[in-house]
Amino acid sequence: MPRFHGDSGNDEGKGTTLAEHVIIIGSGPAGWSAAIYAARAELKPLVFEGAITEENRLAGTLPLGQLALTTEVENYAGFPSGDLKPFLETAIAPERVQYMDIHEGKHAVTGPELMELMRQQASNFGTRIVTDDVVEVDLQRRPFGVKTLEGKTHEAHSLIVATGAKANYLGLPSEEAFKNRGVSACAVCDGALPRFRNKPLVVVGGGDSAVEEATFLTRYASKVHMVHRRDKLRASMIMQQRAQNNPKIKIEWNSTLDEVTGNDEDGVTGVRLASTTGEEPRELPATGVFLAIGHTPNTTFLKGQVALTEKHYIKWTQPFRTATSVEGVFAAGDVADDYYKQAITSVGTGCMAALDAERWLAAQGID
Ligand code: NAP
Repeated sequence: MPRFHGDSGNDEGKGTTLAEHVIIIGSGPAGWSAAIYAARAELKPLVFEGAITEENRLAGTLPLGQLALTTEVENYAGFPSGDLKPFLETAIAPERVQYMDIHEGKHAVTGPELMELMRQQASNFGTRIVTDDVVEVDLQRRPFGVKTLEGKTHEAHSLIVATGAKANYLGLPSEEAFKNRGVSACAVCDGALPRFRNKPLVVVGGGDSAVEEATFLTRYASKVHMVHRRDKLRASMIMQQRAQNNPKIKIEWNSTLDEVTGNDEDGVTGVRLASTTGEEPRELPATGVFLAIGHTPNTTFLKGQVALTEKHYIKWTQPFRTATSVEGVFAAGDVADDYYKQAITSVGTGCMAALDAERWLAAQGID
């Protein structure tokens, strides 16, 4: 039996459960693409898509991954802008489509739409899906052990880790104090709240995410201040132009967020900015502060059992393969990629991980 901290084995029949061929942890593009390939290879994959908890909502780790927190995905090959409503309504099961916010008219596929399509496609080929978090794994034994938030344990001959990454916060005490009361790392999730309407808002960061969040927030805000620590954006040229051409976006160059100000009654009321070029600190009124300063991979649950890079991403141990330091454990998507970090590259490595797992299982004589 797998041994986990604080328990003595499988609670589903004391060793009577059969080990899965492959367990996939994560439900972003990498997880679903791995599931589609593994299911079509008759591996009957079991996907842990994550738990629906307030903690996961705040951390940005709800099921369907980071794409579920974005707006239109204009660069995902195969989805030019079009009227997707009839397609989505026929492709996705009624019990899920009824809860979706499907955009009307011509549009590029949105992140949530794309993820529901991928989930459906995996399910169509027989993928089993569990809405729970994996909190611990035991990779010292075979089959591997997997423990969930609900306290269940499972066994698997191979694992595909596709847990992605989550948004970073600065770590300021005032940021923590106003989380959920004006401080957020997800404009798409929270931007439409009444407290942000027709009010000045702040976005911290200078990358593509910061521009995307700031642009999205201009739908509601009176003004969006993009606070960036340098005098040049990191965002791609097309996104830089989008920020600079939007009359509602003002870039606060060479500035860092020093403190979020506010009170118990109103939540966030403003920010104090420090200068990176020796100017005086200044204050701006704002009812919301959105962080867009990069991501951290979701690898804590691995507890050092798989080799990680110095930035805590899973290490791929062979060129152009998804193998990790543990034989039979494969990694796909942003959890192993701090460089490309695109939906479409995650889909690619998800496919690779399923093919790698299939070939590894066959080589072990497990079929
Ligand atoms: P990113 O490219 O790493 O940018 C992070 C930004 O946050 C940088 O401007 C960085 O400043 C700033 N930053 C980091 N730590 C900070 C700190 N402690 N204090 C203040 N500022 C800090 O991350 P991202 O924007 O999330 O993008 C991640 C990847 O996803 C990229 O490959 C991006 O192209 C892609 N993406 C694409 C799209 C799109 O095409 N529509 C949308 C979103 C993301 P510095 O510039 O000074 O380092």
